Amino acid sequence: MTARTMDPGVGGDVTLLHTSQLDNLINLARASSLYYLTFGLACCGIELMQTGGPRADVMRFGAIPRASPRQADFMIVAGTLTYKMAERARLLYHQMPDPKYVISMGSCSNCGGLFQLGYSVCKGVDKVIPVDVYVPGCPPRPEALTEGLLRLQEIVRSEPWSTKRRPQPERPEIA
Ligand code: SF4
Repeated sequence: MTARTMDPGVGGDVTLLHTSQLDNLINLARASSLYYLTFGLACCGIELMQTGGPRADVMRFGAIPRASPRQADFMIVAGTLTYKMAERARLLYHQMPDPKYVISMGSCSNCGGLFQLGYSVCKGVDKVIPVDVYVPGCPPRPEALTEGLLRLQEIVRSEPWSTKRRPQPERPEIA
């Protein structure tokens, strides 16, 4: 959809405003300034910290850690998710503003990993909240998480910025 406007100050048909290009511009800004809520649960959390350190320096892609879900654009779930913590993960997800995204980091977060036979371990964070990007590995290296962030930026750039990402999921019992 495009809108065409005249610029009376210049006196000619000089301004063509393409809202699709405006969408692209806004999406570029959004993708380049993603705040992430850290949710380090186990050893993958150490790699998550390393990704924010000077060597991997994920901030060069505009990703900045936030301690509060209220200003976070996406959440990185890093580590073994127990059923006890799954309730907290879902609560934090619901406290984030829309549109919001989730990166699942590591085998434990993806599917339970080494501990998937444990009675207390949730078999993947996508059992309780929707996941946009899965980063494999045990643990994934900082470069892998950086790649996950780049994939998320592709998702953010490709969707209409003004629409809500998705309807709120149902809240089934966790067990
Ligand atoms: S995936 Fe591996 S490194 Fe990450 S939390 Fe599980 S056991 Fe630890």
